[in-house]
Amino acid sequence: SAKSEQKGHYRFFDASQYVLLSARAHLKHSLAKAIDAGQLSLHYQARVDVGSGRPVSMEALLRWQHPTLGMVPPGQFIPLAEASGLINRLGELVMRQACAQLAAWRDQGLPLLPVSINVSPRQFSYGSVATQLARHLAHYDIDADLLEVEITESAMVADQVDVQAELTAIRALGVRVFVDDFGTGYSSLSQLQRLRLDGLKVDQAFTRELDRSHEGRVFFQAIVSMARALGMTVVAEGVETSAQLALLRELGCHQAQGYLLGRPVPAAAMAATLGELGQRTALTLVR
Ligand code: C2E
Ligand code: MG
Ligand code: MG
Ligand code: MG
Repeated sequence: SAKSEQKGHYRFFDASQYVLLSARAHLKHSLAKAIDAGQLSLHYQARVDVGSGRPVSMEALLRWQHPTLGMVPPGQFIPLAEASGLINRLGELVMRQACAQLAAWRDQGLPLLPVSINVSPRQFSYGSVATQLARHLAHYDIDADLLEVEITESAMVADQVDVQAELTAIRALGVRVFVDDFGTGYSSLSQLQRLRLDGLKVDQAFTRELDRSHEGRVFFQAIVSMARALGMTVVAEGVETSAQLALLRELGCHQAQGYLLGRPVPAAAMAATLGELGQRTALTLVR
């Protein structure tokens, strides 16, 4: 119709749209080059036990150090990678780097914590993620229980039978699976029960409401109760204040992650944390 033609016409001559599109195209092109140039690396953020305050795991978060743009946040380049198919290469890079890092820390004699990697739902359409994980674990001789996978609720809601089969295959390897950003998607109780995943990472939006409103606290309590009933570990994301941490302890939330407990840091800085953990363990043994 004339109306839709007009719309298309308008879009074609919209300069700001054009700038946006060419910026995206440029970023996409340089992302492909960045993978080869080694500009992408993992940072690590500790996940701690709420009761003891000790780190129990760490999340691998992808960082892109662009030569002229500086640090490009994952919120900008992950969606681009998902739309362009590059996500499969990025996903492989993350698995490989996480396993290689664990092997390097092991070779340095450091005590190891599991590394939790984010897997995009899009990666499931490029072949078996479970097979890829198994290959990297074997290549670096890493125990499967040193690896965890985080997958957003939306991937489960897609209700693709093959995604469910993949998650089952990943767990069969001995790799734990967590639902990421829980509370922002639409997964049902029955899905959670059926999939028998290992834990829930409650989105930071809910953590923020914890000490702000009665409702926020009640809501969080409900998630904790549900997860406990399903035998799942509950992790609070985005913990920034000690008031939030105290409430989480009261509510019986198992684990927490957030700036209060540690920011994402490069591998070298995480090695120092692992070293301290080892010293604490040695002291306990001496006593
Ligand atoms: P996510 O998996 O939910 O990761 C948590 C995000 O919250 C991270 O942002 C982390 O830096 C940030 N964060 C941690 N603690 C706090 C806090 O106390 N306050 C606030 N305000 N933020 C906190 P980041 O690193 O920018 O990553 C954003 C998202 O990008 C991730 O959300 C994840 O969905 C995606 N992402 C990151 N790395 C990868 C990756 O290797 N693969 C895939 N597929 N996605 C990734
Ligand atoms: Mg995550
Ligand atoms: Mg999250
Ligand atoms: Mg998130």
